[in-house]
Amino acid sequence: MAYHITLLPGDGIGPEITEATVKVLEATGLKFEWDVHIVGQQAQDKFGTPLPETVLESIKRNRVALKGPVTTPIGSGFRSVNVALRKSLDLYACLRPCKTYAGAPTLFQNVDIVVVRENTEDLYSGIEFAKGSQEAKQLSELVARSSGEKLRENSGFSLKVISETASRRIVKFAFEYAHTHGRKKVTAAHKANIMKFSDGLFLAVAREVAKDYPDIEFEDVVIDALCMRLVRAPQQYDVIVLPNLYGDIVSDLCAGLIGGLGLAPGANIGDDVAVFEPTHGSAPKYTGQNKVNPMAMMLSAVLMLRHLGENEKANRMEKAIAAVIQEGKTVTYDLKPDRNQPASTTSEVADAVIGKMKTA
Ligand code: NAD
Repeated sequence: MAYHITLLPGDGIGPEITEATVKVLEATGLKFEWDVHIVGQQAQDKFGTPLPETVLESIKRNRVALKGPVTTPIGSGFRSVNVALRKSLDLYACLRPCKTYAGAPTLFQNVDIVVVRENTEDLYSGIEFAKGSQEAKQLSELVARSSGEKLRENSGFSLKVISETASRRIVKFAFEYAHTHGRKKVTAAHKANIMKFSDGLFLAVAREVAKDYPDIEFEDVVIDALCMRLVRAPQQYDVIVLPNLYGDIVSDLCAGLIGGLGLAPGANIGDDVAVFEPTHGSAPKYTGQNKVNPMAMMLSAVLMLRHLGENEKANRMEKAIAAVIQEGKTVTYDLKPDRNQPASTTSEVADAVIGKMKTA
């Protein structure tokens, strides 16, 4: 039986790392039927929308997608396809494991953190009012009436929305993940001392949910303190659950702890569907150079195989990637101790991983 998977290669470095990842997945011996779609600028040019309905239909039908990064124009142009996908499919949990592999260039050893990021609200709700707009004016008037605060006329607004519903399901997801993966501790990060009605709500709900999991330790920490502690002693963290924006930043920070974005996989998970993609973006300056590290996308594919119940193949693929990193011979520039050393290409890494899978 073949797995039917929606494949979104994305843009920038997306197509190169997707090709390398698909090659490795096919070498596991599993069969895949790839339903390939374009999104982002390419889809905008061809279909007049960056996220065609056919893409959402395909993911809903297959229930699993593997996705490369997609560029979001800054300041103007279309809104993020990545955010739109997560919102349209209600992929409320973003799972980003960050684990040190022997041989990776990092100051830290024995890091094994799973970042669980809320994916649908917070400052990413997409509810924004531009400076000078009628809506910005009305909002300023409402704020003046209700709080007495006079806002500057030349202000723009992005709304920070935190609901009890979304907070409960993401914290529950983090505890369930901890429970099923033998994890010992969940840390909730927030800034509830300052944002009492948004982060405060998130924290109150987290404390409530924690009571249902007496076997798992729970702690909370303010986000700035978490960042400092993460770079001093990351080993003390296990599962960290955060609202959307903090989750985005902390997952890049954790990627830095383990050797960089080239090694940081991710998954966006909802009740019905899951989209697997690396933490990193489309790194446009490296487009078409066959130069970047495909391992973050390969490790995202490992998460996908586990999601499909293919644990044995997933373990074999992860072991092969770990062996290539440890050997340090066929790795891309970002995993070399000195960036001036000659490095391997994206496709050579794919062949090396396949080689290790064959000999394992
Ligand atoms: P980025 O993650 O694309 O790249 C930042 C830097 O990290 C790169 O210049 C490169 O030095 C390094 N890097 C990233 N991936 C690497 C890899 N696989 N191997 C080796 N080095 C790697 O971040 P950015 O430059 O801020 O964003 C570029 C675009 O990607 C933006 O349009 C942004 O919106 C988008 N983006 C998309 C996603 C997504 O599709 N999920 C996520 C983040 C950013």
